[in-house]
Amino acid sequence: MASRIYFDHSATTPLDPRVRAAMGPYLDGQYGNPSSLHQEGREARDAVEKARAQVAALFGAEPSEIIFTASGTEADNLALVGTIRAGGGSGHVITSAIEHAAVLETCRFLECTGTEVTILPVNGDGLVDPASLKGALRDQTRLVSIMMANNVVGTLQPVGELGLITAQHGCLFHTDAVQAVGKVPIDVEQLGVDLLSLSAHKLHGPKGVGALYVRHGVCLDPIVFGGGQERGLRSATENVAGIVGLGAAAAHAREEMATESARLATWRERILHELRESVPNACLIGHSEKRLPGHLCLGFAGQEGEMLKLVQALDASGVAVSAGSACSSAHVGVAEKTLVAMGFDSARARGLLRVTLGRFNTDEEVERFLHILPQAVTSLVPAENDVSYSFWD
Ligand code: PLP
Repeated sequence: MASRIYFDHSATTPLDPRVRAAMGPYLDGQYGNPSSLHQEGREARDAVEKARAQVAALFGAEPSEIIFTASGTEADNLALVGTIRAGGGSGHVITSAIEHAAVLETCRFLECTGTEVTILPVNGDGLVDPASLKGALRDQTRLVSIMMANNVVGTLQPVGELGLITAQHGCLFHTDAVQAVGKVPIDVEQLGVDLLSLSAHKLHGPKGVGALYVRHGVCLDPIVFGGGQERGLRSATENVAGIVGLGAAAAHAREEMATESARLATWRERILHELRESVPNACLIGHSEKRLPGHLCLGFAGQEGEMLKLVQALDASGVAVSAGSACSSAHVGVAEKTLVAMGFDSARARGLLRVTLGRFNTDEEVERFLHILPQAVTSLVPAENDVSYSFWD
């Protein structure tokens, strides 16, 4: 029987065997607490600091600017809540309508505690207009938080331009780069980013570990209180094996990003090209060029209500894809908020297929997928003939 095809790398990625090998000793013989003074503790501390340097090197930061957290979600929470608390509460935050829930729900929490929040719209490609950011900045604005790459549609934001506008106004810029780290080159200096969130499990590292880049001089209050680890910003005994895994994942991503991204982008374009012929009502959602290399967000005009069936049919044929973000795929059939924000009407916003490629995929899997997908689509209720929109252009 043919092996399964995993095309859901935006949800999570398989652990790279090299990352697992790097983590192994810290799950077994090397169990020291990095805060302990004895040899076991010092070895654990060395491993954590090596990982800190590996993560920093991925985007041009200093090791001392990296704070390890338990997830991308926690990094986002620390960036937003930590900035507002450090400024004495209240203030004003600007974000976008298509942020991950880790940012939008944190903004909602901040709103309940007296912070004003402005949510910027996006255009039909999922892009924030820098002019709308300029218009939204106020004297009280403390933080702008705009994601680098969207998890649903894969669109890359003009972070450099947004960061510059924010810096000129004199407030902090945070980017949720959970989907972008390891896939596109990032230089925090060039981009003018003050705070950046990432998560190990999106770059072939382990689940349950993330990091926040905090530019030197940026004041943050902690959101977890205790023994004062991670410069007092994230108390708790460090997840040494997880952190070592994140460091190894970052090092491999740094070495392999250029060739890997080129390979993924070639597959992405090949799939799009073939689908134009084999599934004429299929369309690409999101920006055609400003997008993650391995990310395809597909709409099937006139068949939007059939996406749950399509995901199930593909699953039964051995292909793992998703019908939206991993968080929202439990609610298939409900309008995807990201598409609504991009201006899709509620019927069209109900249906998308997210196909996200990764490091261990092969040419053979791409070919097999190109055979399986059109067959799966023919098993759905057909699109009406008068479907009048096409997204190919
Ligand atoms: N931000 C974005 C853009 C994401 O895609 C995700 C996860 O899907 C997160 C944040 C949350 O990361 P974690 O799963 O590590 O909490």
